[in-house]
Amino acid sequence: MMVDCDGKLHPQALEGIHLFNAGDFFEAHEALETAWRDEKGDIRNLYQGILQVAVCFLHITRGNYDGAVKVYGRSMRWLNDLPDVCRGVRVAKLRNDADAVMNELKKLGRERINEFDPSLFKPVVWSEKREWICDRCGTRMHEKNCKVTCPNCGNRFDCSDLNIYFD
Ligand SMILES: [Zn+2]
Repeated sequence: MMVDCDGKLHPQALEGIHLFNAGDFFEAHEALETAWRDEKGDIRNLYQGILQVAVCFLHITRGNYDGAVKVYGRSMRWLNDLPDVCRGVRVAKLRNDADAVMNELKKLGRERINEFDPSLFKPVVWSEKREWICDRCGTRMHEKNCKVTCPNCGNRFDCSDLNIYFD
């Protein structure tokens, strides 16, 4: 699957990420679902993936162990197919954060789900607009699916290597 990861997020996806990061997982799910319904291209998989992570976290806050495990599995089906950065969203970080949540949940088990530490619910990191300036010649660089290239000198890198721009 080749998803078009350039361009902007759907406004409701952006809203969903804001709600997600505020810990409003139910409302985040609603907004992302609107974006998902509205979007016809494969980028809807990104919205579906984030949506299901939100639902997974919601299940945990409600003590629903089986629901959380099930939805986590579904979310990874979408997120694993996406590049590490897509539409400015750090997908690799989201995968790792959700993975850490799941490891902790499985450690606690069904009986102790109420002891889950909500500080493990990390925000979705994204940047709306990225501009790359070549560090060799100062030319504005082109980005395509996370491959950034300088049209002047040919300097190139992968945007997922540059965590400094996001952290
Ligand atoms: Zn250059």
